[in-house]
Amino acid sequence: MAFVFDNTYARELAGTYVPWKPVAVPQPRLLFLNRELAVELGLDAEALDGDGLASLFAGNVLPEGAEPLAQAYAGHQFGMFSPQLGDGRAVLLGEVIDRRGRRRDIAFKGSGRTPFARGGDGKAAVGPMLREVLIGEWMHAVGIPSTRALAVVATGEPVYREQPLPGAVLTRVASSHLRVGTLQFFAARGERETLRRVVDYAIARHDPELAHEPDRYVALLRAVAARQARLVAQWMNVGFIHGVMNTDNMTLSGETIDYGPCAFLEAYDPATVFSSIDEGGRYAYANQPRIARWNLARLAETLVLLMADPDDEAAAQHAVAQLTAPLDAFPEWYEAALREGQRAKLGLLPGSTQEMAGDAALADDWLALLHAQRVDFTLAWRRLADAAQGDEAPLRALFTDSAALEAWLVRWRGRCATADGPARAQQMRRVSPWVIPRNHRVEEALSAASRNDDLAVFDDLLAALRKPFDESDAQVYYAQPAPPEWVAGYRTFCGT
Ligand code: AMP
Ligand code: MG
Repeated sequence: MAFVFDNTYARELAGTYVPWKPVAVPQPRLLFLNRELAVELGLDAEALDGDGLASLFAGNVLPEGAEPLAQAYAGHQFGMFSPQLGDGRAVLLGEVIDRRGRRRDIAFKGSGRTPFARGGDGKAAVGPMLREVLIGEWMHAVGIPSTRALAVVATGEPVYREQPLPGAVLTRVASSHLRVGTLQFFAARGERETLRRVVDYAIARHDPELAHEPDRYVALLRAVAARQARLVAQWMNVGFIHGVMNTDNMTLSGETIDYGPCAFLEAYDPATVFSSIDEGGRYAYANQPRIARWNLARLAETLVLLMADPDDEAAAQHAVAQLTAPLDAFPEWYEAALREGQRAKLGLLPGSTQEMAGDAALADDWLALLHAQRVDFTLAWRRLADAAQGDEAPLRALFTDSAALEAWLVRWRGRCATADGPARAQQMRRVSPWVIPRNHRVEEALSAASRNDDLAVFDDLLAALRKPFDESDAQVYYAQPAPPEWVAGYRTFCGT
């Protein structure tokens, strides 16, 4: 059985996209298929052979019912507004209702130039598309909302970047591709009625319970802000740096999207930036919550247009006041989500779910210790779980100044005194992954796949990333930090 499409975007939002077909590729070859996700989507992948799957996921043979289109969107990129971005190298094939009744977008990325391509070639390279697989699958495995990769096909064509690279097409599954930038596109053009259709569509799709609220646009902002607050808090608690939080890369659904220059903290330092183009550190680790709020303010600006006539000063002021409330609440929502995550990671939830005065300071002081002694963020949390069951030596081994650690441990032990150690340790290990997509391991896998056409390294890494909490011997290779000098020189590039 193939996909069963039900394409509401194509049907209901004419005028917000360009119908557009993927470009056929010369020699499609399947590099990756997400069988578990295929089943979830009701796709019987076993019914097709390798060639059939490769042509399907290259866009050479369009599945029945697909209505491919390129979506329009705008966006603030590094703070500067670009009124027209849009799917320059992507097409939405359509929507599928998955086995649990959820509507999911199926889209290609790297499937050729579209009318939004500007100077771009419309293509994508194998390395960055496989990168999207690795990080997205890991995010999914640790329970962080994310778009997911369904397939990657090598095209048999080179793409020209600094050097020729093997080309690829990624099939991406998302709860939708509605971005803050989608609304900005129509707002910037003053197309209020189209904007209203898009926003009402977004509400129907992501927050249907809000459709009949009197202030549904304010309610939408509140819902998106609440999702983003939780999402960014989850990122922060695993050391994820998105790297390019432009408004066109922020979804209304609350899923992480666009794994271009993203990377993970190793030694804890809030100022960490990996992206080669982020010279000012706008998207540094510690800035992410502030940037999310900044992006939400841009979303609010589009919604004002729907709530008040531009020449009705009093109505506009009232709308602004209403929309400001969720923006003002965002830092608190973020803080609450962050602290809840931290308390779970500190082992403070089992036994006493009650938050206690001093918990936030305990977390902050722990992070300050990690920062001062440049301790690996991921390993520190795991070794703290060992300490919860009385095995403190592995934790101590990560620190150079044991006196500072000891002083902190005295406070932490005092706070933990009530519950049973092994149970607490187990709880902690459920929220602090042992294996993350270590930057050096990701690069190693992508380089083998891209340069030598060797997918074994990628497959092994993917298998490890899908079991992020499993601390077995087979995982040791993936859990080890990169040498500090490697990390110091590490730069990422926008996924091209
Ligand atoms: P991204 O950096 O992937 O979020 O993309 C930002 C914008 O640039 C979007 O409008 C993309 O469609 C477009 N874009 C990125 N790479 C290409 C490319 N190789 N060809 C055409 N458009 C591209
Ligand atoms: Mg993007």
